[in-house]
Amino acid sequence: MKRAFDVIVIGLGAMGSAALFHVARRGREHGGRGRALTVLGLERFDIPHDRGSSHGVTRIIRLAYYEHPSYVPLLRRAYELWHELEQVAGMRLLHTTGSIDAGPADSLVFTGSLKSCELHGLPHEVLTSSELTRRFPGYRLPGETVAVLQPQGGFLLPELCVSYHVIGAQAAGAEVHAREQVLEWEPTSRGVVVTTDRGEYEAERLIISAGAWMGALVPRLKGLAVPERQVLAWMQPLRPELFQPERFPVFNLLVDEGRFYGFPVFGIPGFKIGRYHHLGEHVDPDTMDRVCHPDDERVLRGASERYFPDGAGPTTAMHTCMFTNTPDEHFVIDALPSHPQVIVASPCSGHGFKFASVVGEILADLALTGATRHDISLHRLSRFAA
Ligand SMILES: Cc1cc2nc3c(=O)[nH]c(=O)nc-3n(C[C@H](O)[C@H](O)[C@H](O)COP(=O)(O)OP(=O)(O)OC[C@H]3O[C@@H](n4cnc5c(N)ncnc54)[C@H](O)[C@@H]3O)c2cc1C
Repeated sequence: MKRAFDVIVIGLGAMGSAALFHVARRGREHGGRGRALTVLGLERFDIPHDRGSSHGVTRIIRLAYYEHPSYVPLLRRAYELWHELEQVAGMRLLHTTGSIDAGPADSLVFTGSLKSCELHGLPHEVLTSSELTRRFPGYRLPGETVAVLQPQGGFLLPELCVSYHVIGAQAAGAEVHAREQVLEWEPTSRGVVVTTDRGEYEAERLIISAGAWMGALVPRLKGLAVPERQVLAWMQPLRPELFQPERFPVFNLLVDEGRFYGFPVFGIPGFKIGRYHHLGEHVDPDTMDRVCHPDDERVLRGASERYFPDGAGPTTAMHTCMFTNTPDEHFVIDALPSHPQVIVASPCSGHGFKFASVVGEILADLALTGATRHDISLHRLSRFAA
């Protein structure tokens, strides 16, 4: 016999763990049926794990948002919810360092960041390259570079965020199955049936947040959510005092070699750097090359030696990870038009983690009430042709 739940969440990475947390908490508080909602979370690997998109010790969070100013209200709520999760965890999950968005004066990284600060009244400063180096001597950017410094930027601890969302969901009554892979789901007149490698379950509502595997589970997203191999490198700073969280803000940087992001030393002994769309390799998440090669290191070491020379000592660690990119690099957060009982979330394109807390709230809204107070118009599926 199939076990039945009110809501099933497939994929307990960044977004699914947060969705499970919000559905379970709300289900307990506002059951509205004389009983709490029954909620099941299904994850094919461990919780957390390093085969998806949510590992690597740190993820940037920033309010200055060059990608589009409409992300800022979502970010304000994301910050609130991360701080609430810190209460659940009893520890700090968000570390404030300030954020730098730097590039040529006409680059989107700089102009977009400035625009979002001005439109939303965010505290910020504009610094020339030499002013930036004077304030934060780890930075040695090209002379013509300009930077927005936004003091509330910083980083989150992704593995712990995922874990504490799941721990909080379990405490609110959610059932969690790790190491159980969903093979398929089917719509029914009452909701969905989900088949895994261990059994079958029924639910009235389904949230699918499978990261790089979205295309495999949701045909509508095949070709719209495209996994891409990424590589991160950590290097031992030659002057460690310049790369501590108090003296080295997280950054987004556009230079001739591409768009890079980086972090102070934290958790792994090294200054951390990555390049957006690393070598441009679209991949199958089941067969992706997870070994880091000299070509991977060369790209990241080259930029470090040029722009952060005091950070570019011996390499201490390298990891692969995956972006899941949409064509316009905004997210997909929506109910499936063909099956409104199924909510899909693919908030990645390399910048989604910081939003996971608020995306969890939105997914709970959509699953439990069919609507959300948050503006997700940028992220609707209807912007792409069927
Ligand atoms: C190198 C790198 C750096 C990044 N830096 C930043 C940053 O600084 N700031 C930022 O905001 N964002 C950043 N991002 C983006 C951010 O990490 C992602 O947007 C976010 O982690 C995506 O979360 P997700 O829940 O969609 O995917 P995941 O966290 O990967 O979760 C998907 C889950 O679904 C599970 N799953 C898949 N298929 C099945 C199945 N059939 N059955 C059961 N479970 C299944 C997977 O195992 C996985 O656990 C970065 C990403 C990468 C790769």
